[in-house]
Amino acid sequence: MADTSLDQLPDKRVAARYIKGVTLGEGTYGIVFKALDTKTNQTVAIKKIRLGKHKEGVNVTALREIKLLKELKDPNVIELIDAYPHKGNLHLVFEFMESDLEAVIRDRNIVLSPADIKSYMQMTLKGLAYCHRKWVLHRDMKPNNLLIGSDGQLKLADFGLARIFGSPDRKFTHQVFARWYRAPELLFGTKHYGAGVDVWAAGCIFAELLLRRPFLQGSSDIDQLGKIFAAFGTPKPSQWPDMIYLPDYVEYQFVLAPPLRSLFPMASDDALDLISRMFTYDPKNRITVQQALEHRYFSSVPAPTNPVLLPRPAAKGEAVNNIPRPPDLISQEGPVVLSPPRKARRVMLFPGSEGNAYEDGTLLKHSAVTSGNTGGSTTQSKYMPMSVDVDALFGSKPPPRPTISSTDRSHLKRKLDMELEFQDSPK
Ligand code: ADP
Repeated sequence: MADTSLDQLPDKRVAARYIKGVTLGEGTYGIVFKALDTKTNQTVAIKKIRLGKHKEGVNVTALREIKLLKELKDPNVIELIDAYPHKGNLHLVFEFMESDLEAVIRDRNIVLSPADIKSYMQMTLKGLAYCHRKWVLHRDMKPNNLLIGSDGQLKLADFGLARIFGSPDRKFTHQVFARWYRAPELLFGTKHYGAGVDVWAAGCIFAELLLRRPFLQGSSDIDQLGKIFAAFGTPKPSQWPDMIYLPDYVEYQFVLAPPLRSLFPMASDDALDLISRMFTYDPKNRITVQQALEHRYFSSVPAPTNPVLLPRPAAKGEAVNNIPRPPDLISQEGPVVLSPPRKARRVMLFPGSEGNAYEDGTLLKHSAVTSGNTGGSTTQSKYMPMSVDVDALFGSKPPPRPTISSTDRSHLKRKLDMELEFQDSPK
């Protein structure tokens, strides 16, 4: 659909076909801006990827993303419309998406009904099932990589870390997932993994939709495993025989799993059953995405909400975090995720700051229903839980993304260059 706001802009053509609009955000590899596609009169989002100064050029991750995306066409996978080099940068043209699932989850004005959650989960799993059918792992499933269009359709995006799996002689780098969504086999350093890593991450997203905050917020890989085991019990070797042979395996103190119902008091029995299957420790026994889609959770009442009827988040940039929390959300409050005892300490912000941060990354925002108690009470029902990266809050930089050596890069670039048919000159 054409965006009239773009019509008012001076005609800043980008590679003839696109009229440049506002900047939408800055990603890992460069800025993303809004544009008008004069060929189709559609609004698009163009990801401008800085190419290296050296001839070696195009970032391998970007090339990989292009190659995969060009092959993937599904209603629940973002469409790559075009790719072209321009003024020394690589431009990827995607369909424009209004929002993402993280914005939905964080918007305290939005109440998600069980049918809404089912709808978001169904779209997520449908997109993932399509990728897995094509032998492609996403590998970076998290709510801000699930974009939402104006028609309410959710689409998997940011395949920068995805890779075709199944080929022999391929060892995967395991440090690719955002930690909170990382499967235990990755945390234990497995070199060979499969579609189960995406299922685990989708389980984390399911949990996050129910709880309205990231489920397992580990501050390190060790802590992440601690949080997983506190939630689901320490796995016994009989439950996951291969575990003890994994490269980074360390023995954890045995803890029993609390009842799953106590973690998700608001979930239906069917939802709980599906969650338990998505969080199965042994990846060989973990439910597949296709099986998850066929699970009775999706056929039982309530039926998933029609995507066009799903609640929409506030427009980007609007302050939604300090909006008073509606009383009906309080009863949906999830439990505090269990942490190792040393993590239970609370970090207080200075008086007058906007909220109280917990060391495990949970920030509690004051809500209008709070009656004066700002001093760090543990009565969470009076606060609005918000999730933020505490490192970001205190100004430290996020950990660097994994890189590959220049030998690998030039080798892969040559390989991908041969596979990709790029046009040499700008359009
Ligand atoms: P990252 O590399 O950190 O995952 P991206 O480069 O994918 O980030 O995106 C940066 C920002 O640009 C996002 O936060 C989002 O706001 C915006 N964005 C990315 N893709 C789209 C799109 N298809 N439609 C609209 N906005 C987008």
